Amino acid sequence: MITLSKVKKVYETKANKVTAVKDIDLQINDGEIFGIIGYSGAGKSTLIRLLNGLELPSQGSITVAGHNITQIKGKALRDARKEISMIFQHFNLLWSRTVKENIAFPLEINKVPKSERTKRVDELIKLVGLEGRGDAYPSELSGGQKQRVGIARALANNPKVLLCDEATSALDPQTTDSILDLLVDINERLGLTIVLITHEMHVIRKICHRVAVMEEGQIVEQGEVLEVFRKPQATITRRFVQQVTEPEETRETIEHLIEQYPSGKVIQLTFVGKSTETPLITDVIRSFNINVTILQGKISQTQSGAYGTLFIHLNGSNDEIEKAIHYIREQEVEAEVMGND
Ligand code: ADP
Repeated sequence: MITLSKVKKVYETKANKVTAVKDIDLQINDGEIFGIIGYSGAGKSTLIRLLNGLELPSQGSITVAGHNITQIKGKALRDARKEISMIFQHFNLLWSRTVKENIAFPLEINKVPKSERTKRVDELIKLVGLEGRGDAYPSELSGGQKQRVGIARALANNPKVLLCDEATSALDPQTTDSILDLLVDINERLGLTIVLITHEMHVIRKICHRVAVMEEGQIVEQGEVLEVFRKPQATITRRFVQQVTEPEETRETIEHLIEQYPSGKVIQLTFVGKSTETPLITDVIRSFNINVTILQGKISQTQSGAYGTLFIHLNGSNDEIEKAIHYIREQEVEAEVMGND
């Protein structure tokens, strides 16, 4: 569906040259939800603007939905761009127009007759769950509802690809989840290919099939989301994975636990997608000659395996504890010994 080959983009200003992306080789499949993650300045926005045909690369070629958008111009490019749509972090709605008018806007531009427009807008309003809100103005809507309008508008012309530019970054966690659910629903129902950029790993984990990790304009790692969570290769990827697996209060928790358990060892287990059930692990550890206590933490079972952090306390001979830790690590569960060794 989307192929990028040796893509590079250099911004030249009078004062200097900035290489925003380079050496990008990427293939995104038909019907896939593909995530691109990176910190600010990594080159994500540049990449998405290149995919949208808003910018031309300095080198390399880009094919989207069968169109080599780096080689076509004028009407051909405009036609190709109708198959590519985008939603934005701050929604980019027209504030003086109602929900219906916002959604109808791309249809108006395409000179779709009024009766057809009305029918299509009604369908879209239903699809994104905005029934009864068609005559509201954006200022009367919540953030999540505004993004639903953005999504409906993006789908108006039946695109083949939906690009999402930090589409949930301005929303609270609960609303983020509902918008992500909607994107999955649209992907499944319409078979639409979705490419999203984000700096939040939980977004990737929740809905993406594959992910590319960007750093300094390059893709440093890419693969199936499950695999990347299980075995992150690059340092930056590990940091992103920890975003999801380590809650903020972890440090305080560790200090508190170490105080409480001065003898033996407090171990932090990090589950990164291996679907081993927690009791299984602790039962097997018990077959070593040590005492095991589950202290606290939370493991959530998702489609792609178990994720989360759990603190356990092991008490016994150093030798047996070593063996138990070795066993845990063999299960692809990270085990970090805290403080008091
Ligand atoms: P991200 O979206 O990951 O934050 P960007 O693609 O916005 O990254 O930026 C990548 C690099 O390219 C940054 O160093 C940024 O300053 C630079 N850059 C982005 N857009 C422009 C532009 N229009 N002109 C000059 N430099 C730019």
